[in-house]
Amino acid sequence: MYNFTDLHLHTTFSWDAEQTMEALIKKAYKEDIEFLGLTEHLDFHNNHPQSFMHLDYDKYTKAVEHAKKDFPGLIKGVEVGEPNTHSDLYERYMDNKNFDFIMASVHWIDGATPVFEEYFKRYKSYDDAYKKYFEEKFKLVSYGKFDAVAHLTLVHRLGKKLYNDYTYEKYKKEIDDILKVIISKNLALEVNCSGLRYPAGELIPDENVIKAYLELGGNSLFLGSDSHTIKDSFFGIKQGYETLDSLGVKEIVIFEKRKQVRIPLRDDDIEGL
Ligand SMILES: [Zn+2]
Ligand SMILES: [Zn+2]
Repeated sequence: MYNFTDLHLHTTFSWDAEQTMEALIKKAYKEDIEFLGLTEHLDFHNNHPQSFMHLDYDKYTKAVEHAKKDFPGLIKGVEVGEPNTHSDLYERYMDNKNFDFIMASVHWIDGATPVFEEYFKRYKSYDDAYKKYFEEKFKLVSYGKFDAVAHLTLVHRLGKKLYNDYTYEKYKKEIDDILKVIISKNLALEVNCSGLRYPAGELIPDENVIKAYLELGGNSLFLGSDSHTIKDSFFGIKQGYETLDSLGVKEIVIFEKRKQVRIPLRDDDIEGL
């Protein structure tokens, strides 16, 4: 039996999500998920009408505090898009805020989201588009003023539909460079299970990248379904746990007040399995 957690969840506090905290908690009880990490969107660029949102921090905080009475394993997180390119605004925003963890993402590169066709069309080749994505990811982790790194190979979530040549081996140099910075800065790395419900059909990052991370000495992984609807919540989490188990991972992390807390992947002592 596993100590199930899901640390990448969006609720109605995110502009693109429709599930409520209450519905999520109800489902977590039903599916025996012990810790839920809320990762509401926080974006700073203002030239994208959909993505522009300043999270209502006070309202969010109150809602989490209230919901924690019913579900103590609730973790108050945030998913920040490109804090490195808006570092002034980002650092000012974070100055008087208290999150359990800050997870950072690359969602936006020169005005396009690196999952859609309009992004890929901007480059001479898919190879260029993937390399550009990894370049931005490298800049993000090099900045590093956050706790966790989301969906490392996001470009392949839908990119797989257009481009079949992606493998860890092919992008080993780019990916290893990113992993080394993640490890040296003690950032936690997300194993994002959303790829299992998208054309990629695998974890993001995939098993070979996770293996490379472990071989390079990384040992701060966590799992997330990246769900925006109740139907997708916890989707693929079990497969994520099985993959980590098969790779010999014994511990994963959750977060409390910007610190990693290690918990065993398996719950053998209690279940006796
Ligand atoms: Zn994201
Ligand atoms: Zn997300």
